[in-house]
Amino acid sequence: MERLQKILANAGVASRRKCEELIAAGKVTVNDKVVSELGAKADPASDVIAVNGKPIKQEKKLYILFNKPKGVITSATDPKGRTVVTDFMREVKERVYPVGRLDYDTEGLLLLTNDGDLAHILTHPKHHVPKTYLATVERVPHGSKLEKLQKGVKLDDGMTAPAEAEYHDIDPEGKYATISITIREGRNRQVRRMFEAIGHPVTRLKRVSFGGIALGSLQRGKHRSLTAEEIQKLR
Ligand code: URA
Repeated sequence: MERLQKILANAGVASRRKCEELIAAGKVTVNDKVVSELGAKADPASDVIAVNGKPIKQEKKLYILFNKPKGVITSATDPKGRTVVTDFMREVKERVYPVGRLDYDTEGLLLLTNDGDLAHILTHPKHHVPKTYLATVERVPHGSKLEKLQKGVKLDDGMTAPAEAEYHDIDPEGKYATISITIREGRNRQVRRMFEAIGHPVTRLKRVSFGGIALGSLQRGKHRSLTAEEIQKLR
């Protein structure tokens, strides 16, 4: 027996949170009976589970690596019709969801999947999944500033956990530097806020690795399936 919202999310109905909303709204039936308590369990193998009267079907699990361009919204749909990440993979018929999010102006590695369990693990703060970014910042931060990032900086929602930060590229004229930074948290606009806190605003931000999986040479706007080894790495 499994929780209903988990079964629905695993079947690709929607994110786990949205599935909870569907249950609470009385849209879900188990063997033709409306079930609206969130703790309810069912057996995906033997129970007939339906959403708005339509039986769900278990989907094949998909794991997609996408190189998000800037100016794209990390969402599966947008009510205002703006460009979203799934617009770049129209041939993917299964409903896949972004794992975490990148800001509108951030580019780089974004995972999408219909595996609700794995998405939940990867985005849960207690799992400390490492995420590496290349942050191009104004002027060249002194080494002592990078040490601050490594130790933790004070943001308005509290101290950040220790991060790795090292120079990736330095402009010979000193106008900018690119810093490789690895964080294990996922607060809103965290990397941008960390660099703001040390006085070096970010002008470009690209995620290059997530949970040990590298973006590599995948072109901007392109996507590919994860390999079996990569999926294994994430588990
Ligand atoms: N940190 C940010 O500031 N923005 C992102 O998109 C991801 C991490």
